[in-house]
Amino acid sequence: MRYSDSVEPVITLTSGPVNAYPDVLRGLGRTVLYDYDPAFQLFYEQVIDKAQKAMRLSTRPVILHGEPVLGLEAAAASLITPQDVVLNLASGVYGKGFGYWAKRYSSNLLELETAYNEAIDPQAVQNMLTKHPEITVVSVCHHDTPSGTINPIDEIGALVASHGAYLIVDAVSSFGGMKTHPEECHADIYITGPNKCLGAPPGLTMAGISDRAWTKMKANPSAPRASMLSILDWEKAWSRNEPFPFTPSVSEMNGLDVALDLYLDEGPEAVWARHALTAKAMRAGVKGMGLDLWAANEAIASPTTTAVRTPKGIDESTLRSEVRARYGVVFSSGRGETLGKLTRVGHMGPTAQPIYAVAALAALGGALNALGFKADTAAGVRAALAVIDADAEAI
Ligand SMILES: *Cc1c(COP(=O)(O)O)cnc(C)c1O
Repeated sequence: MRYSDSVEPVITLTSGPVNAYPDVLRGLGRTVLYDYDPAFQLFYEQVIDKAQKAMRLSTRPVILHGEPVLGLEAAAASLITPQDVVLNLASGVYGKGFGYWAKRYSSNLLELETAYNEAIDPQAVQNMLTKHPEITVVSVCHHDTPSGTINPIDEIGALVASHGAYLIVDAVSSFGGMKTHPEECHADIYITGPNKCLGAPPGLTMAGISDRAWTKMKANPSAPRASMLSILDWEKAWSRNEPFPFTPSVSEMNGLDVALDLYLDEGPEAVWARHALTAKAMRAGVKGMGLDLWAANEAIASPTTTAVRTPKGIDESTLRSEVRARYGVVFSSGRGETLGKLTRVGHMGPTAQPIYAVAALAALGGALNALGFKADTAAGVRAALAVIDADAEAI
């Protein structure tokens, strides 16, 4: 039998969006309250409190009512002025992409780029800051998802902070799946969302904003106001006593509320640990099967996505189609420069469970063999199980 494209897959193991936790799906079905009903205003304030707790912030985060690309574009539009000298760090498609937004608001753009299977070297950032004392804003993507690689943002953030520049961080696909928080990396604007490691649908941005970022945005006459791109409009919206600039996404807030409860109740450390273990099992299996990881070294491989280099002679798009048709499993492709060169298996939220690595490896190996590439599926599965079993017996 084959799974038709017109029926839902059995397991979605993408690098976002991912299927939501069942409890989140039920939360999305809650009553759609009128946004000025006092019960909703109180609820909104409580969700912001939970987001603040999850993000370990000393100030209230802002929720914007569009998936995190809205937050990233809004950050560029609100914080960057024509007087700013921006250093954009790019180790992949998302990092590079932020540079295009930055350029819209300041023509003074410097970029530090690495190969898309490497990570940004903090020493290289320090060299740029020393060479260009005029840099006022630095932007970086934490987990550049289309490469499955992690940048050392806590180290980079410390350097940027001592230079005195503002830092914009895209942590969309890392927050909730590993230890990362806005204040630990000295972010002035830290963008994330519910649709990756928190296991809720796409539709909201969660933004950590530093006090000095608020001050800079308010002093920027061009920062969007009375606009869908505005961050400033939402500054006080957390309070049950303040109006919303426009109607918030009520159902998405219901879903986020449950996702934050699940995250906080399970315990962030436990959530990160199952992301890390799933990725570790996956990497062991990929190597055990005779395939190559995309990341130049395992130390920079993401705990929330594993990128597998496309073997010679295999068409990547055909490979994913075969995985879906044969086994009902969905993986992500690369994007832009990494398209065709790698296949991504996501370990995010509900799919950050080690047994899904085993399923992913079996499906990957099976499809590769069907397409004529000799992958040692059994050795890959054994290697993944060895990692999982060692962890289970390590107590
Ligand atoms: C998912 C993601 C975003 C949001 O963009 P999408 O439109 O959902 O692709 C932004 N940045 C990163 C690093 C992401 O992984």
